[in-house]
Amino acid sequence: MAEKDPGQTRQFTEMVAAKQGWTLNPDREFYESLVTGLMANWNRYGYFLCPCRDSEGTREADARAICPCAWARSDIEKYGHCYCALYLSREFAASGKEPSGIPDGRNAT
Ligand code: SF4
Repeated sequence: MAEKDPGQTRQFTEMVAAKQGWTLNPDREFYESLVTGLMANWNRYGYFLCPCRDSEGTREADARAICPCAWARSDIEKYGHCYCALYLSREFAASGKEPSGIPDGRNAT
């Protein structure tokens, strides 16, 4: 599996955001830290495991936590952003509010 660089990883997040109608976190420093985490996970595991979660050991076990994770849509609808706050709803982004800590959907299922 070819390694990803930061540019390819940013491109991935831009593609997901555009496809889903979400906005990327406008805090560039924070955004870049998540890009670094996603890239590191790709280069370590071969898939974009959520940068805010630990691997459970196999791709199958991690399937729901591969970005965009299984909980992203409902979290964004409910809280305005995903667990990592990589993706925000357009409304939340426009509000200028700061993302807050939200429960990890992985623990609820
Ligand atoms: S919480 Fe979900 S959507 Fe957000 S960065 Fe992690 S995997 Fe991606």
